[in-house]
Amino acid sequence: MTPMAAKPLAAAAIAQLESDGVATLIGTVVNPAGLTHAKTVPLRRMGAFADPGLGASPVWHAFTIDQTGIVFGDGISVVGDQRIRIDLGGLRILGDGLAWAPGGFFDQNGVPDPYCCRGALRRVEERLAAAGLTAAVGHEIEFVLVGPDGGRLPSTLWAQYGLAGVLEHEGFVRDVTDAATSSGIPIEQFHPEYGANQFEISLPPMPPVAAADLLVLIRIIVGRVARRYGMRVSLSPVPFADSVGNGAHQHFSLLRDGAPLFSDGSGAHGMTPEGEHAVAGLVAGLPEAQGVLCGSVLSGLRMQPGHWSGAYVCWGTENREAAVRFLQGGPANVHGGNVEVKVGDPSANPYLASAAILGLALEGVERGSALPPETGVDPATLTEDQRAQAGTVLLPAGQADALRALDQSASMRRILGDEVIDAVVAVRRYEMEHFGALSPEEQADRFRMAWSV
Ligand code: GLU
Ligand code: MG
Repeated sequence: MTPMAAKPLAAAAIAQLESDGVATLIGTVVNPAGLTHAKTVPLRRMGAFADPGLGASPVWHAFTIDQTGIVFGDGISVVGDQRIRIDLGGLRILGDGLAWAPGGFFDQNGVPDPYCCRGALRRVEERLAAAGLTAAVGHEIEFVLVGPDGGRLPSTLWAQYGLAGVLEHEGFVRDVTDAATSSGIPIEQFHPEYGANQFEISLPPMPPVAAADLLVLIRIIVGRVARRYGMRVSLSPVPFADSVGNGAHQHFSLLRDGAPLFSDGSGAHGMTPEGEHAVAGLVAGLPEAQGVLCGSVLSGLRMQPGHWSGAYVCWGTENREAAVRFLQGGPANVHGGNVEVKVGDPSANPYLASAAILGLALEGVERGSALPPETGVDPATLTEDQRAQAGTVLLPAGQADALRALDQSASMRRILGDEVIDAVVAVRRYEMEHFGALSPEEQADRFRMAWSV
């Protein structure tokens, strides 16, 4: 957008927002450790926040989950300054005088910053477009309601997916639904999950960057509404060491010239040949992407068989213990055939997680990767020989193994860029070095609120 065009547009938008009661604008970015950062401006400064943006040190890419740490390194030092530019196309009104827009990192000349996670997903979107493909991503957000100090809330009335949870937290459920509707988020469903005081919201398929933006927005909404009820939201992969985890599952579908790759095809369960290649590329690349999708010091506690977290790298139709669950198109799947990646958790940067998943799928299509055999049962019930024959591996629960695979991955470096990989590995290694020796209970307690907003 040229400055000439940007200014009148911003003036008109400001007048409109003012009449909608907006006084303060929040812009957010998410860093490689999965932390959501923010700057705010009075509404009249909206245009400047969009272009040239607000200053931020490169160390923002290296903030760690312990509230104080910074991992200095190549390109990340006390010297240098970047600009966070909000994307006015993604602006949404939050209510109570607030509006929000997603932001990304640029240099002072407006060139996208190679460390920017939103920019990394944008690049994958562009690679897909250059290959004639478009993607849609649908996020699921799981979270646990806790007290203001992060303590456990009573769960006297609670059943897995129980009505009791809806009624115990009726005001919260209603206000989140209302706020989401007012902000233009078309929630698909919202329900109590398996764990005590755990809820899940599913979001509809959208273009990848817009989908990740909406995930950030729904986190803001649930965080704000929870506060209204004297609660907070834990987005930890394992809020309490002895209970179920929070996943951050992502569904995706791909289209070529408007035609789906995962429906109406001649291959497995209605996939087209290219759809099969996409699933194959994804399954093959998951061990190297684990550090991006679920690479925090807590993530390994969730990455266990029997946790519905997809610890076994395989694919299966409607298989909830497979890392890659295929959902077949048909009258009951209104969005058509799609793929759910179950391994991701909320400690991940959602932009990078989508970029890794879609990049692997794209490279599978480009290479014509062959689909491995489908796993139609709980992989844990197979013998080791059977799993080996199908090429099914168990993702490591240790952070060191996942980070080594990521650091050495040529495909992840190609898809996300060296700067992003180096930053992710750096902030996650810091976690391992400083907190890896704590007991699971200590780790879960220490970081229960690390990703909360
Ligand atoms: N909470 C589970 C997880 O950690 C997922 C449950 C489900 O399949 O929705 O991923
Ligand atoms: Mg769920």
